[in-house]
Amino acid sequence: MNNEKIPYKIYLSEQEMPKAWYNLRADMKVKPAPLLSPKTLKPITLEELSEVFCEELAKQEIDENTAYFPIPDEIRNFYKMYRPSPLVRAYCLEEKLQTPAHIYYKFEGNNTSGSHKLNSAIAQAYYAKKQGLKGVTTETGAGQWGTALSMACSYFGLDCKVYMVKCSYKQKPFRREVMRTYGANVTPSPSDQTEIGKKILQEFPGTNGSLGCAISEAVETASKLDGYRYVLGSVLNQVLLHQTIIGLETKAALDKYDIKPDIVIGCAGGGSNLGGLIAPFVGDKIKNGTDVRIIAVEPASCPSLTRGKYAYDYCDTGNVCPLQKMYTLGSGFIPAASHAGGLRYHGMSSILSQLYHDGLMEATSVKQTEVFEAAEFFARVEGTLPAPESAHAIKVAIDEALKCKQTGESKNIVFGLTGTGYFDMMSYQKFHDGVMSDYIPTDEEIKIALDKLPDINV
Ligand SMILES: *Cc1c(COP(=O)(O)O)cnc(C)c1O
Repeated sequence: MNNEKIPYKIYLSEQEMPKAWYNLRADMKVKPAPLLSPKTLKPITLEELSEVFCEELAKQEIDENTAYFPIPDEIRNFYKMYRPSPLVRAYCLEEKLQTPAHIYYKFEGNNTSGSHKLNSAIAQAYYAKKQGLKGVTTETGAGQWGTALSMACSYFGLDCKVYMVKCSYKQKPFRREVMRTYGANVTPSPSDQTEIGKKILQEFPGTNGSLGCAISEAVETASKLDGYRYVLGSVLNQVLLHQTIIGLETKAALDKYDIKPDIVIGCAGGGSNLGGLIAPFVGDKIKNGTDVRIIAVEPASCPSLTRGKYAYDYCDTGNVCPLQKMYTLGSGFIPAASHAGGLRYHGMSSILSQLYHDGLMEATSVKQTEVFEAAEFFARVEGTLPAPESAHAIKVAIDEALKCKQTGESKNIVFGLTGTGYFDMMSYQKFHDGVMSDYIPTDEEIKIALDKLPDINV
């Protein structure tokens, strides 16, 4: 135990960076339901899965027994360029809130892509390269995943084709240019390069595109080109596995000062950063009965955990990825335009869904304007300009710290600060101009999408 005052930033050395990812499923008493093949609707085999994903990634996706996967040196070396990431003690925020709580945040925005997504992008690119593929295709909405994947592909010399939803392509020219700087081929979607794109353009000339359409174009392109695969940046078990680097580093940093978290909070879109952050803490809770609250924070505009259904559903609109049992709003659910684009996903990781179902994790939803209030407050107090997605976790961390103020408890609160908001200034502008809306879907809207869940649900 270290008796010094806890520093503003707890750093780990390169040597202390975790050497293996942690597969929480190995320690879960109730495992997530098996993935189903979209063709047969039966539990998917490794062989079938390998048609969609690289072999090693397919193995990681299915494996629920191996607790630790060594991180290959090539990936660790890349991680070393921006990791270990700092765990920050939010002294200034505590002071401003006048709370007895101790607040810590793990900052993942410290790389050019600006978010945690690079942790999995580099792993996926590595396995693609190792298998001798020529390139990968993907979609990007808000742009973070496309940027991270572009960086990862350029590092390993892989081709990267990104279909970017047309409205983002126009609204976020700087994200687009970052991707092109890293050599990616960025196409506004819908495009006339794919059959599905042409069809949509014919039906809806002048459309600004949608994530579903961009996914379909990316999938079609991968299937038509030799040596290409389609890759995804969230939701999948393999992505959560890679993101456990976040939680393992957090735990190692806290352990240095013998700090035990009482509450761990993260924003949840598809669940990858949250799943990665909480994995070692939930593992401890399951194995040793440690008393730690885990809180998932989702936008009120896309509330899969808090208002969705626990059922089998498609992960992608193109229906090529395996089906997962998860909390979902239905793959046909189209959330209102939101400024936290990274959280507009209809479903939730099957691992997180099972933890929530078993009472090992809580969930709450927050409204857009209160999120931006928290974001701005945080930026002014702690200096870092947060991504709107990350600000969901900030909002709830502040709420919990204020509760401590009332009860006088000095709880340890840890949250994930997943990224920076430099490319989201249009959203901040809307907030400052007072023209931001708080759309919350009606029960009727959610029911319409849920009624279209695949029939296999009994
Ligand atoms: C994509 C993204 C998220 C949400 O994705 P998860 O898979 O739920 O982690 C959160 N924060 C940032 C900054 C993102 O880019």
